[in-house]
Amino acid sequence: MITIYEARKIITMNPARPHASHVAVREGIVLGAGPLEELAGWGAHQLDRRFADKVLMPGLVEGHSHASEGTMWRYVYCGFFDRLDPGGKLWPGAKSIDKVIGRLVEEERKIADPAKPLSGWSLDPIYFNNKRVSRQDLDRISTTRPIGVMHASGHILNVNSKALELGGMLRAGVNHPGVPLGADGLPTGEMKGPDAMTPVGLHVGFNREMLAADEQGVRQFARLCVRKGVTTAADLANPLPPPAVEMMLRVAAEPSFPARIVSLRLFRNISPADLVARALELRAMSSDRLRLGIVKAVADGSIQGFSARLRAPGYYNGAPNGLWYVAPEQLRELYERALAAGVQVHTHTNGDEATELVLDTIEGALRKHPSPDHRFTLQHCQLANAAQFRRMVKLGMCVNLFPNHHFYWGDQHYSLTVGPERAERMNACATALRTGVPLAIHSDAPVTPLGPLFTAWCAVNRRTASGRTLGENERITVTDALRTITLGAAYTLKLDSEIGSIEAGKRADFAVLEDDPETIGGERLKDTRIWGTVQGGRVFEAATI
Ligand SMILES: [Zn+2]
Repeated sequence: MITIYEARKIITMNPARPHASHVAVREGIVLGAGPLEELAGWGAHQLDRRFADKVLMPGLVEGHSHASEGTMWRYVYCGFFDRLDPGGKLWPGAKSIDKVIGRLVEEERKIADPAKPLSGWSLDPIYFNNKRVSRQDLDRISTTRPIGVMHASGHILNVNSKALELGGMLRAGVNHPGVPLGADGLPTGEMKGPDAMTPVGLHVGFNREMLAADEQGVRQFARLCVRKGVTTAADLANPLPPPAVEMMLRVAAEPSFPARIVSLRLFRNISPADLVARALELRAMSSDRLRLGIVKAVADGSIQGFSARLRAPGYYNGAPNGLWYVAPEQLRELYERALAAGVQVHTHTNGDEATELVLDTIEGALRKHPSPDHRFTLQHCQLANAAQFRRMVKLGMCVNLFPNHHFYWGDQHYSLTVGPERAERMNACATALRTGVPLAIHSDAPVTPLGPLFTAWCAVNRRTASGRTLGENERITVTDALRTITLGAAYTLKLDSEIGSIEAGKRADFAVLEDDPETIGGERLKDTRIWGTVQGGRVFEAATI
């Protein structure tokens, strides 16, 4: 059966025919986009006018998020900014530590079982003049129930005294760089990094396998995708244990599952040889709606957490240089084996020193294993300078930059972390495009909210939360931004032959919009209203998802 959808406007991203009024779909595939008379040539069809007053564009592609965003919403939202949950409820931001505590108290009262932990997420003390949260703060909620609140970065966990006690950490003499101690010699309750977080995390709902979202989390994540016009989303760092893969394949195959998930296997607790073998195994298990077989490596930490590796002149406030998350030798072995086997690797770098290490390592690996079209991608890569973008082009690499940072942490980058000049060159989208590096942009949800049109707004305006324009000369046009959140992201996932544009032969994946993002204006791009999506020819309305 052929369905021809009529729309107010169709933005196709097909350079030969950028706009259309109708699109014909058969069995989830686009037959063509153009005038009705032309499309009628395909034969018997049904004309569907439900989008006659809407704007269609290719289904948005989120090139770096985590399906665990869906799991997080089972916990109490403690973020500073307003945020939409998968059910469509807007949670107001908690603007002070007292507000965070107040919200947790309210939720605590609703839990009948006294042993059940209370979990919160998306805390960031950098907004409270960097005043740290202590176990005493959380003890105001309860001294008998274990409580844990994950930071927005996902790299720090605050717990109360009961959780420390259950984790065997409420004692003097703890000597670990990730466990700060109070004046009384006991841990303050702030646990930094996986080593410190794990023993207490188990007791407050955050265990090691958290990045492998559970069944309910995956479904919630896909609902959120529909609300944001997303039809394909990367789940960028999943340990992918066999039961999780089995579950995700099953859930994604459900007829009502509305998104395509590209899940990358995280390089952690596994040798490069085993990882590459596992990636090939996973690739063979892929389905249309669950794509597997790409690898994710992490080179350093985060800039706002001062754990990113920076080259000279280092952190603006004098903080010591950040942390390496992987040994250079391990990275070299991974790249060589992956290139030899034809496995794609995405690598997280935040600081420019980490980016430089990865560029050097890939250059060496490519000399041993010359590989056309490998599309190794740098993720975040926030501090890359022009010289590094030039190297990326020569090495055949892609980059996925993180413009949401300008809004969420731009003021802090300007005044605290990297200082004014480097804050203005962070996430240099214009330089990347000018240099010819294939570009994607992302949210890293749950670190910042999922929403490619918001991310596009960030890249177009580079506005901080306080209203400063951070890097006027690195702003990109709306046209470039819209291309980046569709074909650009699809390219980094090697899916641009299937998705990212509306043209003959491609998957029938559309974002269905109430407003026209091409004419709404850069200032208002983030306010573009989203009706829902069409995914593989199936219609999903956000209001009823
Ligand atoms: Zn991430």
